Amino acid sequence: MSDKSLLIVAGDGIGPEVMDEVRHVIEWMDKRRSVKFTIDDALIGGACYDVHGVAITDETIDKAKSAGAVLLGAVGGPKWAKVDYDKRPEAGLLRIRKDLELFANLRPAICFDALTDASSLKPEFVSGLDIMIVRELTGGVYFGEPRGITDLPNGERRGVNTQVYDTHEIIRVARVAFELAEKRDGKVTSCEKSNVMESGLLWREEVEKLHVEEYAHIEFEHMLADACAMQLVREPKQFDVVVTDNLFGDILSDEASMLTGSLGMLPSAALGAEDSDGRRCALYEPVHGSAPDIAGQELANPIAAIMSFAMALRYSFDMGEDADLIERAVAQVLAGGLRTSDIMQPGKARVSTGVMGDAILRELDNLAA
Ligand code: NAD
Repeated sequence: MSDKSLLIVAGDGIGPEVMDEVRHVIEWMDKRRSVKFTIDDALIGGACYDVHGVAITDETIDKAKSAGAVLLGAVGGPKWAKVDYDKRPEAGLLRIRKDLELFANLRPAICFDALTDASSLKPEFVSGLDIMIVRELTGGVYFGEPRGITDLPNGERRGVNTQVYDTHEIIRVARVAFELAEKRDGKVTSCEKSNVMESGLLWREEVEKLHVEEYAHIEFEHMLADACAMQLVREPKQFDVVVTDNLFGDILSDEASMLTGSLGMLPSAALGAEDSDGRRCALYEPVHGSAPDIAGQELANPIAAIMSFAMALRYSFDMGEDADLIERAVAQVLAGGLRTSDIMQPGKARVSTGVMGDAILRELDNLAA
């Protein structure tokens, strides 16, 4: 792929702090791996509101559409708590996801050996854990119509949301899951509530059909979403790729990610459809928010943001080896005993955001030597 353009939208709170460490890794790539990334910067969230009165501008949306990948820090904070609902920092994030039609949300849950003790599960259940949750991101009950709160004649109120999926929405996200499984351990688990919801039954039938017609070589199973929630804590290593709708994916991806320890460790990707040239819009961001409680104190863990950049290398630039290199460098630094506050353990060395970032660069130097 020749287009190596990145749009960085660092956002608010610890967003710019963790993105500074990502920039160092990008510079390292430029120097040591003979790839040239061109970086453009734009405002999002509260930082954008302060300058433009909106959480993201049309110009930034246009830039995001044409970038090879968008790297996002985080948005939000108490400073903007009273801003109009449609202009609040989070509205910028929702708009960029929607306008770029990022329908597939990839949330890996990987447990580094050095952090098996940080999980709330026993080490033997999480050691070596590597799951990918694929959540449908632009449809389902969060967007379905009718929706709203109405007053009833009897004086009560009624809240309504509608779970709705069309065939193409199911097939395109299931396809992402099968294609990921082809490059991983070759297994897909599809989750819905087909026992009580017609939309779940349609989901089940369409994913089943796609499997039979195009991906029969992939191991495949259906699981009810509530059973999956239970199995994730009972025996998480049985899963490889889990694909599910927006609502269940929201819950199951949070559950899976917590198997591995801290929010500061969790990357994510949101992918759009491939065009005829094989190019797709994509946004990569740490799962965590802007962490106003620790912003400006050099306490933030930059690993989630750095691992999100590694996902960009893998899924937007076909640079899987370089992504592996970054992940190995992170594993080595953790094995060496360095910890930011959020993953601190007895007997380990507590370090700042910048020291953690520098240690990863040093380890990259060692691995590439
Ligand atoms: P949060 O993820 O910002 O923080 C939750 C807790 O985790 C805090 O104690 C924080 O200090 C800690 N934490 C988070 N990331 C960390 C890191 N990298 N290193 C060390 N510790 C870390 O969630 P919150 O406090 O519920 O929300 C704060 C703001 O962020 C809100 O305005 C919320 O709307 C916004 N938010 C944004 C996103 C996003 O930009 N994608 C996601 C979630 C929340």
